[in-house]
Amino acid sequence: MDPRDFGLANLPFGIVSDRTGRRRPAVAFEDRVIDLDALVDANVLDEESLLAAETLNAFLARGRAEWSAVRARLQHLLGAEADHTERAAVARASFSRDAVTMHLPVAVGDYVDFYSSIEHATNLGRILRPGGDPLLPNYRHIPIGYHGRSSTIVTSGTPVRRPHGQTMSPEGDAPSFGPSRMLDVELELGWLAGPGNVHGEPIAADDACDHVFGYVLLNDWSARDIQGWEYQPLGPFLSKSFATSISPWIVTLDALEPFRVAEPARDPQPLPYLRTREPWSYDIELEMALQTARMREHAHPPLTISRTNFRSMYWTLAQQLAHMTSNGSAVRPGDLFGTGTISGSAQGTQGSFIELTWRGRDPLALPGGESRTFLEDGDTVIMRGRAVRGDVRVGFGEVTGTVVG
Ligand code: MN
Repeated sequence: MDPRDFGLANLPFGIVSDRTGRRRPAVAFEDRVIDLDALVDANVLDEESLLAAETLNAFLARGRAEWSAVRARLQHLLGAEADHTERAAVARASFSRDAVTMHLPVAVGDYVDFYSSIEHATNLGRILRPGGDPLLPNYRHIPIGYHGRSSTIVTSGTPVRRPHGQTMSPEGDAPSFGPSRMLDVELELGWLAGPGNVHGEPIAADDACDHVFGYVLLNDWSARDIQGWEYQPLGPFLSKSFATSISPWIVTLDALEPFRVAEPARDPQPLPYLRTREPWSYDIELEMALQTARMREHAHPPLTISRTNFRSMYWTLAQQLAHMTSNGSAVRPGDLFGTGTISGSAQGTQGSFIELTWRGRDPLALPGGESRTFLEDGDTVIMRGRAVRGDVRVGFGEVTGTVVG
């Protein structure tokens, strides 16, 4: 990973352990990891919620003012203005990135996945309902989502076991049970909730900034054959709940502030509770790469199969949060929200194999003569993200996972 992606402008938060196995909060800085528990213990950082913390949930409960104050203090400690004592404390709290193991940054409470790329929804509508209107009538009015399973959220690098499930035969005559033959991924971002709301009290879209700590990369592993048989009328169930991978470093909203951009044009205008004064789109470049077992054996590097950008998402974080809580539903610190697959309409900009191969019709050609429609055992998928504006770079690192049979 490029150390320039983790400069003072970024400082993403995560949970690490060293060889003693003890977990503690940290920020990534250049090619190092800075132990925040050690900085609090050395009295150069004043934030009790980070002391002896094995997850970031207590820190996420603290809210925007504390998050920003800690980040500003860290920028001072790691910058040119730090004094001798501060530099010594930072040196004692520094690890090489290779010397630590990354863990899930939070104990995820509830997990919701949205469906907020209109290009993705249009692509899937064309594939699954050819001849009809690709968008269902509600799409431009309501941020669509489903409740997923937090117990199977895993950090980058965790192998993903091919799920077994019930599928209908292509002829539609009889269902059977066995390993999924249409294993897929979804390239997404995920955002992590902060203090949350009181049950019964919705969060206004314009208050979203106070309730969201930051973003991670998210891979929503999906078994399309299981999904196609089970999803009507209540939506995805076992086709998604076997694994969801996230990147280990949370990139804060503060770090992403320079990359906020105008939202895409919306027609019709959303209902008043879904309108915001500020723009909530972000200019974040994303890419997805694939390396098969045979590519690894023959030393072929991962092949980039998709490049896209987050800025065209139809529904934003602020709208998702306002909609999610509009019925009084409660959000708690560490709840995770997937944005939905991030896709463009042009070939090579889609965030899933079902779109990239048009449900298997157009296989992807790979180095060494292999091809892919959906994932085979031994395949590794790597997702990366980065925002760049002039000299300012903010990287997400990566989320990877290898399919095992
Ligand atoms: Mn998804």
